[in-house]
Amino acid sequence: MSPHETGNVLLDLVSAMHDSERSPYKPEKTPEEGCKHPEIGRLVEALGYDFLLETLDLEQAIFAAEYPEMRSVGLETRRSMREIVNEHFQQCRRCQLEAGRDRAWRKDFVRFLKSETELVRKILKEKRSTPRGKPRTFIATP
Ligand SMILES: [Zn+2]
Repeated sequence: MSPHETGNVLLDLVSAMHDSERSPYKPEKTPEEGCKHPEIGRLVEALGYDFLLETLDLEQAIFAAEYPEMRSVGLETRRSMREIVNEHFQQCRRCQLEAGRDRAWRKDFVRFLKSETELVRKILKEKRSTPRGKPRTFIATP
């Protein structure tokens, strides 16, 4: 499965969770005010703090393979971005709140995958039998 396909399957599973009435998850936006670096705040919101740090910390070869359009961003640059993000995070209530929400959300998601095995299996099966057409791209909007 290519990273794009994985992204699509994930998106389908996520929207299935949101549709599920048994899901306790209700999407809620964290207000942006209070964040002194909204550009970091938006990244934290779009990717999740943990994932953002992991991405900035990836080995260059893996990073370049995963994000070919950003392959020119070297490890040095990413390390200093990581420091800036980290430093901001320590001082920003709003980004901490967002990270906490992201972790809670992921816990819900894992719980959903475990409790709704039937539905999850159905989605995965549908995906596998979908003929390859035009490639769809998954872009995390900031
Ligand atoms: Zn912030």
